[in-house]
Amino acid sequence: MAEILDEREHEHERADEHVRGTGPRAEIGVIGGSGFYSFLDDVTEITVDTPYGEPSDSLFLGEIAGRSVAFLPRHGRKHHLPPHRINYRANLWALRSLGVRQVLGPCAVGGLREEYGPGTLLVPDQLVDRTKARAQTFYDGEALPDGSVPNVVHLTFADPYCPVGRKAAVAAARGRDWEPVDGGTLVVIEGPRFSTRAESRWHAGQGWSVVGMTGHPEAVLARELGLCYTSMTLVTDLDAGAETGEGVSHEEVLRVFAANIGRLRPVLFDAVAGLPETGARNCLCSTALNGLDTGITLP
Ligand SMILES: [Zn+2]
Repeated sequence: MAEILDEREHEHERADEHVRGTGPRAEIGVIGGSGFYSFLDDVTEITVDTPYGEPSDSLFLGEIAGRSVAFLPRHGRKHHLPPHRINYRANLWALRSLGVRQVLGPCAVGGLREEYGPGTLLVPDQLVDRTKARAQTFYDGEALPDGSVPNVVHLTFADPYCPVGRKAAVAAARGRDWEPVDGGTLVVIEGPRFSTRAESRWHAGQGWSVVGMTGHPEAVLARELGLCYTSMTLVTDLDAGAETGEGVSHEEVLRVFAANIGRLRPVLFDAVAGLPETGARNCLCSTALNGLDTGITLP
């Protein structure tokens, strides 16, 4: 029965693509800095409007290993948006409206264990939300501009990341001789300030692995749109200087991220190449909305 439902879902998606397949399209989304697409030969910049307002920036469409990819600079191309001002809902909606069904989300994080020093690549399998003031659902009962009203929907989120996407990311890193940490917990704080030493000790004491500012609500909003989402975290610092240092600085984060982008880019590209075709998705994300009446039409 589940297989039959899956097949219908795929038929529906294919019909969808056919009807709206005239404008620029992409099957895979990458939410990350401009460093990821700036070396692609052929990039098309397009603007996308959404019922939730404007995304962080234009979307940049390119091709990797024969796959069509939409890149979106999470903080805007000039890095003018702090984590709590990012329009996460518009970003995910815009990607889906182009046809994107699988999203990779590379981001910089602080390591919460001494062994996760700068340059560690960790592909988390769990998430803790410690943000405070962000719109984190599409299904809040607020009417959209077209008059449709989303129903209240409670989604399963026990496993916040796509298991298939995680495997592709881990395999891609190994293929480039960069042994990643396979699994771990990303705790997302509100920011924009970094953690105090007490907060950092507390996060580490809970057994959490890395700390960032953008992983939530990105992952849950992707799930709410039936998208696969895979987080790829790059450790840029030991959070709050562990016990001894001065504490993390913005300059240090940018410096370490920039130093590793040349290493991360081919891993990301290989991960893109390793993702299944849209119509062949068979994971918990692709069926997350099955049987639910959201009250709105997804793009
Ligand atoms: Zn998935």
